[in-house]
Amino acid sequence: MTAPVSSGRSGLLERLEAGPVLCAEGYLFELERRGYLQAGPFVPEVVLEHPEQVIALHRDFVRAGSDVVEALTYYAHREKLRVVGKDDLLESINRQALRIARDVAQEAGALLAGNICNSNVYDPENPDTHTRTRGMFEEQVAWAADEDVDFVIGETFRYAEEARIALGVIREAGLPAVITLAVGQTPKTREGWSLADACRRLADEGADVVGLNCIRGPATMLPLLPDIVAAVDVPVAALPVPYRTMPEQPTFQSLRDHADAPLPEGRPFPTALDPFTCSRYEVGEFTVAAQAAGVRYFGLCCGAAPHHVRSMAEALGRSPESSRYSDDMSRHAFFGTAPGLATHNREYREQL
Ligand SMILES: [Zn+2]
Repeated sequence: MTAPVSSGRSGLLERLEAGPVLCAEGYLFELERRGYLQAGPFVPEVVLEHPEQVIALHRDFVRAGSDVVEALTYYAHREKLRVVGKDDLLESINRQALRIARDVAQEAGALLAGNICNSNVYDPENPDTHTRTRGMFEEQVAWAADEDVDFVIGETFRYAEEARIALGVIREAGLPAVITLAVGQTPKTREGWSLADACRRLADEGADVVGLNCIRGPATMLPLLPDIVAAVDVPVAALPVPYRTMPEQPTFQSLRDHADAPLPEGRPFPTALDPFTCSRYEVGEFTVAAQAAGVRYFGLCCGAAPHHVRSMAEALGRSPESSRYSDDMSRHAFFGTAPGLATHNREYREQL
């Protein structure tokens, strides 16, 4: 494995010492909405086909307050590319994603993160799959190290043991590791460990940040966080999906719309989740509550857009570049209160 270059590698830990770190995610869903990526496969060929779109979204997220530019290598692994018949693109997708992210990180002074994720290969009953999973992670982490990332995010793991493999590979490369688990309807790992136990073990084995990402919305991720915070000494991460999940439908896959809703697959996930989208103010409330619960690494996953990220940054007391355009309804023609607004319009507001 290529030895990582050391420049800036302590950046993540230094920033966490100084205060919360914000990492925008959700690239797949946002690029899908914009028409550059296919729902279902969710393979990020967009880095080769429309790099300008990925660059633009990286910039949008940094402008909204993200401290991290995360390379879009989610699902750019050997298994996914085999499924879509594009194995030959494996290295070029990874390297291109890393270089695009590196360029934006450098221009913005942000951290550069590599990314590995759920393999969809790992099967606890089959040791051969553990070897294959490790091999997939090793090749992606080697490319990330070669492109001089500051740290690597290993995310969306339902099995703690798969997360442990990812952590081991990142540690062997000498890079800081952020490891986050994805929690389904039962608040345990898929092999049945408590989240506190899983995160404690990952922290004990050298993860620099542990926590949860994806699948659950703010309302159903928040209650899971205090046990994790209490179990570990390292910073805890929380990156929910910005959807209105609820106790009886705690994940975005389990959300159900009304009976007459036109749904091609009978459920909103993943392309009809719009009516469940959190407002920016709900994201802000979550951020404040998660910080009070001890979370130190923040972000949003699938479904997030730049306005959500800005709201998170503002809830952390920041004023990112895009806050210049945060709302000011005092100057609205009908709802405003500023001097000089036409009275006949203000009086008409209740008729709107
Ligand atoms: Zn996600």
